[in-house]
Amino acid sequence: MKTNEFLKTIDKLIPDARCELNYNKDYELLIATVLSAQCTDKRVNEATAKLFKEYDIFSLAKAKESDIQSIIYTLGSHSKKSKYIIEIAKRLVNDYNGIVPNNREYLESLPGVGRKTCNVVLSNLFNEPAIAVDTHVARVAIRLGLANKDDSVLEIEKKLMKFLPKERWSKTHHQLVLFGRYICKSKKPECEKCLFTCKYGK
Ligand code: SF4
Repeated sequence: MKTNEFLKTIDKLIPDARCELNYNKDYELLIATVLSAQCTDKRVNEATAKLFKEYDIFSLAKAKESDIQSIIYTLGSHSKKSKYIIEIAKRLVNDYNGIVPNNREYLESLPGVGRKTCNVVLSNLFNEPAIAVDTHVARVAIRLGLANKDDSVLEIEKKLMKFLPKERWSKTHHQLVLFGRYICKSKKPECEKCLFTCKYGK
């Protein structure tokens, strides 16, 4: 498939591309993204609505793990995630007075923050061109023949970066997430709604 053809089609399918995690502050997006590992955005939004009503970055840095666990227990791995977000809050408060820096190396040094989380944060907060490859993006890229089944997440990211113009990386990342979440679903893709043709579907 040619890049132009792909972009025209994805623009028709997913015209409004945006992050579905709710946040009002920079650190809220970072923490919500860490919490979203192996979990739906909907459940994360429910938990963070409570979490950020009770805590800001400064109080979170001093919070008790058990109190945080009781708020995020629906998200899975709540013990590990509580530790991560308290530690992230401590580091941000100590190093940047609670502000999330536009610094990939620093962000990737935070607990629970890998390349995918970092890409989400950099692209949403700082408009940095980035493609975060999550489970949806990986599945869709493979089904559409933009990547191979055996490719690592990093290889998929590199192939997408080569295939897409840089100015479209961030927008198309969101489009791929939403396309995978609502149309090209893992178990029962809704191929009748799809405008692509692929060997996995129609
Ligand atoms: Fe996914 Fe079906 Fe579209 Fe193929 S045709 S990309 S499987 S929704």
